[in-house]
Amino acid sequence: MKNTQYAVIGLGRFGSSLAEELLKLGYEVLGIDVDEEAVEEMSDKLTHVVVADSTEEEVIRSLGIRNFDCVVVAIGNDIQASILTAILLKDIGVKTVVAKALSELHGKVLNKIGVDRVIYPERDMGIRVAHQLVSPNLLDYIELSNDYTIAELAVPKRLAGRTLKELDPRARYGCSVVAINRKNGVIIAPTAEDTFEERDVMVVIGTNEQIETFENEVI
Ligand code: ADP
Repeated sequence: MKNTQYAVIGLGRFGSSLAEELLKLGYEVLGIDVDEEAVEEMSDKLTHVVVADSTEEEVIRSLGIRNFDCVVVAIGNDIQASILTAILLKDIGVKTVVAKALSELHGKVLNKIGVDRVIYPERDMGIRVAHQLVSPNLLDYIELSNDYTIAELAVPKRLAGRTLKELDPRARYGCSVVAINRKNGVIIAPTAEDTFEERDVMVVIGTNEQIETFENEVI
């Protein structure tokens, strides 16, 4: 087990999947939910589980939550419980509090309270899926800023055997291929002579427009 300890409050769909993934990544995870059934379902999956109402200060203190490195408030529908829990966690001095917001307003309140990171899973997933629907070859992307993006693009069959020099994305479109990911390894900073293979994934960095044009004209 790795050293960082996580607690996840609210074991709904989002909280339970987050908690299980943290465990898979090798971290200790305490799962907390007010609902006995939700806790029971996770009892043999997580390191520890507790049935508790996270809005009750005494309960939270008695669980020693203060000593956890990161606590995630994954309560969604009950906005009041989410906000009260976040205040309490900041109050008792939890180092890093991450909280899920259902709406912009909910997120604003969480920010004001001093939550270290506010996440909007539904909104972000909606945006992500929209991008993937309009560009079928786009597997994933990270927005570096409002203008710059790193995108993972599936290399189509017809580009197999072509070199990076032939496509020349930097000179033609202004974006650069920074890596080629293939089954048996990753080519970091590929050279002009590197050749694409079927089922490769290219990692491209550039402005949104550059990547979009490259994608439309080449991929
Ligand atoms: P999702 O959309 O991820 O399924 P939900 O809002 O449906 O999210 O689920 C959140 C979980 O948070 C539920 O299992 C609920 O029992 C739990 N929960 C709600 N309020 C509290 C609270 N005060 N203390 C602990 N757990 C809570």
